[in-house]
Amino acid sequence: MFNTKKTRKDFLIQSAVTLGALVFPFPFTTSKSIKSMSEAGIFEVIIVGGSYAGLAAAMTLGRALRSVLIIDSGQPCNIQTPYSHNFLTQDGVAPAKIAELAKNQVLNYQSVKFRQGKALKGYRDENVYVIELESGEKVKARKLIFTTGVRDILPEIKGLAECWGISALHCPYCHGYEVKNQKTGILGNGDAGFEFARLINNWTKDLILFTNGKSELTASETEKLNSHNILINEREIKEIQHKNGHIEKLVFTDNAVESLHALYVRGGFSQHCEIPVELGCEITETGYIKVDEFQRTTVAGIYAAGDNTTMFRSVSAAVAAGNKAGAILNKELVDENF
Ligand SMILES: Cc1cc2nc3c(=O)[nH]c(=O)nc-3n(C[C@H](O)[C@H](O)[C@H](O)COP(=O)(O)OP(=O)(O)OC[C@H]3O[C@@H](n4cnc5c(N)ncnc54)[C@H](O)[C@@H]3O)c2cc1C
Repeated sequence: MFNTKKTRKDFLIQSAVTLGALVFPFPFTTSKSIKSMSEAGIFEVIIVGGSYAGLAAAMTLGRALRSVLIIDSGQPCNIQTPYSHNFLTQDGVAPAKIAELAKNQVLNYQSVKFRQGKALKGYRDENVYVIELESGEKVKARKLIFTTGVRDILPEIKGLAECWGISALHCPYCHGYEVKNQKTGILGNGDAGFEFARLINNWTKDLILFTNGKSELTASETEKLNSHNILINEREIKEIQHKNGHIEKLVFTDNAVESLHALYVRGGFSQHCEIPVELGCEITETGYIKVDEFQRTTVAGIYAAGDNTTMFRSVSAAVAAGNKAGAILNKELVDENF
């Protein structure tokens, strides 16, 4: 049975995506299409952000013979991580290598172009969107996809930024296996710190929760952590000493030290790119670009996918969301053209 809450339009969109695997025989010359696109100077789609989500969207659109421009400033959030994990077929591969392979494959589709650079501004001009690049160049498209990711905001502790993604970790699914059974710290406090400690406990029993100041754990949380032999350290951290990003020890303001192998950290984040907000896209209470189940933002013709839309951060999730945005956007173009 179909979900009766869905509108007929949503059902038609879903059906079109399912049918996306079918090949429709119709006359089409890719080079002619690119020529007419460049004559008009208007791409069908501009994708701002050319990492995993953006490249996945571009591949789907390229395979759908759409004229696409990807703009990318080359600053993905995992840039400092030596090895990426938990993405099928690419487990343990360097993040940049995955992106490079993806980019090469995407650019095999002739209607997809790639521009290295930063998008600074976006606005609507009659029927098209205009994106201004840092170089001063202006590019135009009928539709936009923002796959711009987020910027991590780390607690201000000397040495932490250098260790980020190497031995200061954001996610056990990505990096927990590599540091299993090692002496590990968690930087966190209160309910969030407690939940993080509970989660990580399955990867290692040699665990310390660093609250970096007075504990805000409840009595029952403290008791539970104690019962699982998870230590609680309330000292204030002065600095993290490391070798090339590999943590050696935490040094506290009272000059006490604690040697460690890895430290889990959950900081804050901000949107990497402000253009969606300038264009009127709504942001959720938790700071993500608001999208529906089809990756459509609250502004017509603008889509978003990947880390900028969800707390569920992984390469595979970003690729899946980009793939979906590409397919749904292609359907929107079909609806307008046919
Ligand atoms: C330290 C760390 C380690 C991680 N390790 C793993 C792992 O091992 N396995 C895993 O599955 N996941 C891992 N992740 C999560 C994973 O990296 C992200 O989920 C994924 O990168 C999200 O892809 P994205 O395309 O949405 O964003 P990003 O990869 O962050 O890419 C966004 C892109 O948009 C570009 N951009 C932003 N603004 C502009 C602009 N104005 N103009 C032009 N370009 C712009 C950026 O330069 C960047 O290239 C890790 C994350 C972090 C922070």
